[in-house]
Amino acid sequence: MRYPDENLPAISVPNYAGERYEADVPDTLDLAEKAELSIHAITQMLDPDRDYQMATTAEFDRRPPAIGFASRAPVCEAKHLESLPLLRIMSGSAFNLESDKHFMESLLRLTAEDGAVYTPPYVTDKPEDRSPGRPPFEEPYGLVEAEGRLILTLCMWYQRDGNPLWRTLVEKKISRLTELGVAEQDFVYFTIREPLDTELDVRMWFTARDTAETLKDPAGGRGWFTDLIRAHEINFQCSRSLCIYYRLTGYEPALELAGKIIRGVLKITRGFEKDGRWLLSHFHTATASLLAMFEYATLTDDMELLAFVVRCYEYGKAVGDSLVGFFAEHARGSVPYREGWGGYWPGEELAEHGYKSLDARDNTCELCEVADMVGLALKLTLAGAGDFWEDADRWLRNQYVEGQMTHSQLRVFLDNLYERELFQERPVEPWESDEIERAIGGFSISSLPNDWGLKMGHACCTGNASRTYFWIWDSILTKEGDLAKVNLLLNRASSWLDVDSYLPYEGKVVLKIKETAAVATRIPSWTDRGKVSCKVNGSRRDFAWSNDYVEVSGLTAGDVVTIEFPMREETLFSVIGDKPFKLTLRGNTVVEIDPQGELCPLYQRDHFKRDKAPIKKVSRFVSKETVLW
Ligand SMILES: [Zn+2]
Repeated sequence: MRYPDENLPAISVPNYAGERYEADVPDTLDLAEKAELSIHAITQMLDPDRDYQMATTAEFDRRPPAIGFASRAPVCEAKHLESLPLLRIMSGSAFNLESDKHFMESLLRLTAEDGAVYTPPYVTDKPEDRSPGRPPFEEPYGLVEAEGRLILTLCMWYQRDGNPLWRTLVEKKISRLTELGVAEQDFVYFTIREPLDTELDVRMWFTARDTAETLKDPAGGRGWFTDLIRAHEINFQCSRSLCIYYRLTGYEPALELAGKIIRGVLKITRGFEKDGRWLLSHFHTATASLLAMFEYATLTDDMELLAFVVRCYEYGKAVGDSLVGFFAEHARGSVPYREGWGGYWPGEELAEHGYKSLDARDNTCELCEVADMVGLALKLTLAGAGDFWEDADRWLRNQYVEGQMTHSQLRVFLDNLYERELFQERPVEPWESDEIERAIGGFSISSLPNDWGLKMGHACCTGNASRTYFWIWDSILTKEGDLAKVNLLLNRASSWLDVDSYLPYEGKVVLKIKETAAVATRIPSWTDRGKVSCKVNGSRRDFAWSNDYVEVSGLTAGDVVTIEFPMREETLFSVIGDKPFKLTLRGNTVVEIDPQGELCPLYQRDHFKRDKAPIKKVSRFVSKETVLW
């Protein structure tokens, strides 16, 4: 296929420079390793024979299990392309490195002179792609939401290589979005075109010939006022991206357009009550829209909007399970989500597992919403709008990391499905592949509190949850002047210091000092403050408290700071979704859930019940790069 814009040049991806060394570290949660698992899924699910098109599905409950390449999905491909550089900075991994460039080039090949990506119609032989439910296009079509998300991707790539092409494309996309939006007073909205006879795929699509005028044609479109979900989806895909671009470059039209979109959703389609209650019922749409509002609020010093985002975050916590970070896809808002979306388990089947609601979305959790809630917790805390470190830590250690498919989980899952004959015999179609291992590292779109779930949301959730790994990893350590702050007690290498975390085996964190003279370490809220101790190079050292942090100063390179505190173990009962569970926790880490999952059980963590963390040799990587997110 040729580039629609023939002037687009070839691209190259700069090396991921950094320092690499061997270290003996506690074998505990390490986000650099999780990032490598994400890179596996993201790059292995691309198909070089299909011009690096991304597989969007992974189906386990069939024989043989298969991954599927339906039509191109630029809005989701953009999430994966946004994640790849971030995951490589975390881990230094060069696994399938050449695919990053080819993946980006495949999207560039769809980019026209107006800067927008146009997907060719009917790119597969899959019958659904030709059904009346799909956009009945005779010509390539673009999506407003995809353009928004691609701006964010290009922002990440621009920060790495400074390629002026990315700026050119972002600014063309902003012009195109401005042209397609319908301006009214001080806000803007986008029109919805309904493909023939289904409610399922209402998307804001356009062709290269469209303008706001042609989209306003009553035969072809209607405003987003009638579709709360889509309006907020446009908001989250576009506004946050525009804000990030403004932060990077100061490009005024980006901030202006973000403001107009946000005013549109706040004034007309709302989605939330003033007091923070949600009208939106789709959890991920709500949280992602809040992330966009957060970004705009902090950029414009809009304290009222920021406080509103905090109230909405608190509501999200209240309707989900704030202990493990289980947020059901259906957030019990008052505006129903459209029928037929989500619900990746039949309600009757879930009833056999002891759940009451016949709407599976009440009891299944998309990993996007867990990632979004952790993202909100981090962003609000770093902006000084609250202290939500414990939320982020607890949700990460439990529902979040358990939602990422590992090698051993896949084996257990397939064995259980076959043993119980919970599968369909179905031949592998031409647009599929039976190499299901390619999906390892992808995230669930339908996890239960104790079971991985039947469906992977590779296109959607793998992109969002992998990206948010970077946000967490980057927040583990921050610098305030000369003071290095350890906010999350997780393994992490950096140029200032390396963190060895012994949680949840031991209440212990070891800091190997490199380039900082003072360090502040956040002590978990669940421990006994009176029993916190600190040693430097094996000798007791006095420390000062500053809020939840213990501060040690006068350090030099090579010093080893050991902070210890009592570990807490407790057993709790919690209704998650609509089913009661008994949970055993060490610190914030669930080490056992009862009842256990039956197909791909989560929390297989007996090893965490030991009192001594095992040590393993790893290759640590310290990147020289920083990224604004
Ligand atoms: Zn998702």
